[in-house]
Amino acid sequence: MFYKILEAAKEHSSLSKKQIIELLLSKDQSLFETANKIREKTKGNGIHLRALIEFTNFCRCNCYYCGLRYDNHKIKRYRLTEDQILLSVDNAMKADYKTIVLQGGEDMFWSKDKFCNLIKKIKEYDVALTLSIGERPKDEYKAFKDAGADRFLLRIETTDKTLYRKLHPNMSFENRLRCLKDLKELGFETGTGCLVGLPNQTISSLADDILFFKELNADMVGIGPFIPHPNTPLSNEQKDNFDLSLRVMAITRLLLPDINIPATTAMETLRENGQIIALQSGANVIMPNFTTSEYKKEYEIYPNKKSSNNCINDISEQIKKIGRKISTSKGFRSDYT
Ligand code: SAM
Ligand code: SF4
Repeated sequence: MFYKILEAAKEHSSLSKKQIIELLLSKDQSLFETANKIREKTKGNGIHLRALIEFTNFCRCNCYYCGLRYDNHKIKRYRLTEDQILLSVDNAMKADYKTIVLQGGEDMFWSKDKFCNLIKKIKEYDVALTLSIGERPKDEYKAFKDAGADRFLLRIETTDKTLYRKLHPNMSFENRLRCLKDLKELGFETGTGCLVGLPNQTISSLADDILFFKELNADMVGIGPFIPHPNTPLSNEQKDNFDLSLRVMAITRLLLPDINIPATTAMETLRENGQIIALQSGANVIMPNFTTSEYKKEYEIYPNKKSSNNCINDISEQIKKIGRKISTSKGFRSDYT
């Protein structure tokens, strides 16, 4: 039965909820081999590197799982200046990166106009720009798109509405959906994703998450194992969610064969070589960190966050060993290799 499901998925890029649950519950490793083969066929052997700049750890939100939440008074807050951000962009360009990802908490200091100015300055380089800055009204997203931003990452986190409400005080699932729909409509390459291993999260709801990625026709999907942070309400939730996260990621590859899927830092944090394992199980993107070293440690979403080396030569050596190479394209969804 298991192999029949894999064959059907390979053929039609579609699975029922029942079939997804079966793949999630199985321990069979051939899921990963199948996802890897599909990635090879649709995306080639190129790995896209995205230079990640964590430009602010101020956040107005209070997500129960995140170390940057508003009520965590134990972290030192920082906000990079425009010049500091542009310096990191310049470093990434010198290192031959083709995509910048600006990520941060929901920091309202960064108004629509400030962001637009920054976007225009970054886009003076020949580079693709991804934003990961949370929920904003549609007119702001439109202004960011008009200023030149290409992509946007906003995880749905979980499609279980009851769980979503519990974990996100003063936020709404409906608004999260509205944001994702607006981003798609405005022509952003739109990324979403979920956390795996949240308290009270069920296998059935993870299957719904995967079906949601398909329904949205997400261009990128980031799957992160949930890692408890000591200064959050979920500090006591100890679990290793690596294997299940890998399964969610691999099944996502079956259903959305041509999208971009990162090997996430959270996977590397939970397992030595976690990112390499993910790259061999359906992923094709890595996001090395270009945040200035003095601030890196303050962007503590979860403890012991691994900060991957951003030197292209070192990464290149590692990925050569698994028969892959660094892509020289900007890595849009339609790009092969
Ligand atoms: N504030 C923006 C947002 O929420 O979309 C972007 C930054 S936020 C830190 C990026 C991602 O970190 C979130 O989408 C969430 O899935 C992930 N994250 C937060 N806390 C985490 C934890 N404890 N373990 C694993 N991932 C976590
Ligand atoms: Fe803020 Fe994003 Fe963390 Fe939620 S996940 S607290 S929005 S940084």
